Amino acid sequence: MNKLIDTLRALGDLLMPRTCVVCGRTLGVHERHLCLPCAADVPYTRFWNQPHNPLADRFNAVLERHRGTEPMDYAYAVALLYYKGAYRNIPRALKYHSNLSVGRFYGTLLGRHLASAPHFVDIDLILPVPLHWTRRWSRGYNQAEVLARAIASALNAPCRPDILIRAHRTRTQTRLTVEQKAVNVASAFRVREGAQSTLVSAHHILLVDDTFTTGATLYACYAALRPFTTARISIATLAAVEGTPSGST
Ligand SMILES: [Zn+2]
Repeated sequence: MNKLIDTLRALGDLLMPRTCVVCGRTLGVHERHLCLPCAADVPYTRFWNQPHNPLADRFNAVLERHRGTEPMDYAYAVALLYYKGAYRNIPRALKYHSNLSVGRFYGTLLGRHLASAPHFVDIDLILPVPLHWTRRWSRGYNQAEVLARAIASALNAPCRPDILIRAHRTRTQTRLTVEQKAVNVASAFRVREGAQSTLVSAHHILLVDDTFTTGATLYACYAALRPFTTARISIATLAAVEGTPSGST
């Protein structure tokens, strides 16, 4: 069977050569998505083994800034890899170049790491950060949902893209400052009518997005969910921009 797959892949490579997502080099028959040198050097965070890690500290700093008087649990957060150098091409391939296959591959890898981490094994509801319907329609897919579905099957937990709604379309975030980003997404999300009972019965919800930059988008989803559930809410992303807990990046 493996031989047959190799033969078919070799034939496919003749017709349309596959290239490394990171460096663009033509891939060999046994290489998937990345060439061997790039695959050997992926800047993995290894945060999945650490309930307390720099990314979780950053997300908790965002939660702390918005917290009222009520006590707050430390939220777990994980990213598979750092968003840096040519490795930025991995999340970009998923988000901008319709490479759903690379999203499923790294989503599954992240899901397997979560499944082997004691603080993530009890996740019972997985929610992708939604796109506004017009953006989803023009792109044809939601990159966060591609990741969430792969993570969900590795964790054997339900993925529910129908619970959070992006209520209004936000401006592209790329050129905004941290404060502008926070305002831009603050009220962008709401819980769909009728989805409350699902949230009430959940114990550990995982919010999934493609990239963690300032945490503003994930926080806005967290804030939309919080009134409807006492569940622990954790976050997972494919990539994370390196930064400090003060959120200065
Ligand atoms: Zn490469």
